[in-house]
Amino acid sequence: MSRLWTSEEAARATGGTATGAWEATGVSIDTRTLAPGDLFVALAAARDGHEFVAQALEAGACAAMVSHVPDGVDPAKCLLVDAVLPALERLGQAARARTEARVIAITGSVGKTTAKEMLKQALSGQGKVHAAVASYNNHWGVPLTLARMPADTDFAVIEIGMSNPGEIAPLARMARPHVAMITTIAPAHLEAFGVIEGIAAEKASIFEGLEPGGVAIVPLDVETSGILIDTARTHAAEVVTFGEAEGADLRLTDVILSDESTVMRLATAEGARLAKLSVSGRHYASNAVGVLCAVAAAGADPTQAAMMLSHWQPVEGRGQRERIVLSQTDDIAIELIDDAFNANPASLAAGLEVLAAITPARGGRRIAVLGDMLELGEGAEAMHADVAELPSMEAVDVVHTCGPLMEHLHTALPGAKRGAHEATARELCHALPRRLRPGDVVLVKGSKGSKVSVVVDALRKL
Ligand code: ATP
Repeated sequence: MSRLWTSEEAARATGGTATGAWEATGVSIDTRTLAPGDLFVALAAARDGHEFVAQALEAGACAAMVSHVPDGVDPAKCLLVDAVLPALERLGQAARARTEARVIAITGSVGKTTAKEMLKQALSGQGKVHAAVASYNNHWGVPLTLARMPADTDFAVIEIGMSNPGEIAPLARMARPHVAMITTIAPAHLEAFGVIEGIAAEKASIFEGLEPGGVAIVPLDVETSGILIDTARTHAAEVVTFGEAEGADLRLTDVILSDESTVMRLATAEGARLAKLSVSGRHYASNAVGVLCAVAAAGADPTQAAMMLSHWQPVEGRGQRERIVLSQTDDIAIELIDDAFNANPASLAAGLEVLAAITPARGGRRIAVLGDMLELGEGAEAMHADVAELPSMEAVDVVHTCGPLMEHLHTALPGAKRGAHEATARELCHALPRRLRPGDVVLVKGSKGSKVSVVVDALRKL
């Protein structure tokens, strides 16, 4: 691992004091994932990070960023700062300031992590890419991602999320992107924002952080695209639109879904182009088109990026597909679509569309296992019941549900499609195995809080 921060650089960046001399090869906030050589940042979360400093140093941390030296800890191993989170922010800003990297920031109601992962793959081979791990997109995730950025990075991909109004703009200003992309606008976190226009305005505030000469990448297929474009025009030197809608700068004129791939026909300024993904889903196509716009805006080659993107696969919990073998000798298996990381109406519709496009093996069925979609505010019950009316629902054979909100879908479904309903995901785990058959394709989806990931774990153990 190469050097990321010397004690002197980190002290200068944070305004803190380092009495000892050390070199950090990484930055960590969690002793469970800390690598030897990391600078441990003692953030306060559910518990105060200062409680873990000794443990972090024992695990090989080169030093710890602290607001006080915990008992029994060698002060020479501490970077003493006034307050830890603001110091981490300053470290992130210093990392951003010292790099020549082209920075791409992404936000959106859904698809941030997907688009970030796609961009990472699309840009690989065209320079050194630095991107957030997992969904590190909040008030500590963004500065941490920046603080971890090596000085010689060529492309940085920064995901920016929000739970409450006012969160995006300061994070965007910290990242100072050359390119800022919105994946899509959909009802998510409605509890905090009330109306979809509020969500659009908040997401559009990402453009406030753009560097001079920056490019805004905007989805045209959303009803609030006007709000996004207006804000983009205020802050960006160039606005590039993408989507299926007439007039998009990069237009998706056709999407052909098959079991395991998506073929996209694109209308570009240079004429028609074909691109392919090795994964099935209209929403993946939408993200991919936005990603290709971002690649071009960042000065990389979109043709090479499209080739790299054709190998992209979704990560665990976000649409990853796997075969679960029930009997090796008889070649009996079910197919799992693990989309259990999170859900809102847009991503559930997208997940069901993927399920509908898959042809199960002989004797198998298309099965959805769904947990509650949370944080939807007042209309939540109706939004759950409305899932029964989605066109892709016609192709789904059985829907098993859990949670008080999904009960509204359970009752809205026609009898033939109505599967088990249980109060919790854990109870559904018991009911499910005997209701599955070899050849079934099973989509598991729900908000994080619905804990449907336990169903995925249970299926893997079948
Ligand atoms: P979070 O804020 O919860 O981390 P996110 O914005 O990062 O979410 P992803 O994790 O990329 O979103 O995707 C969440 C779910 O939404 C996945 O099921 C994914 O397949 C689906 N999804 C991704 N992109 C889109 C899109 N453009 N439209 C609808 N659904 C999408």
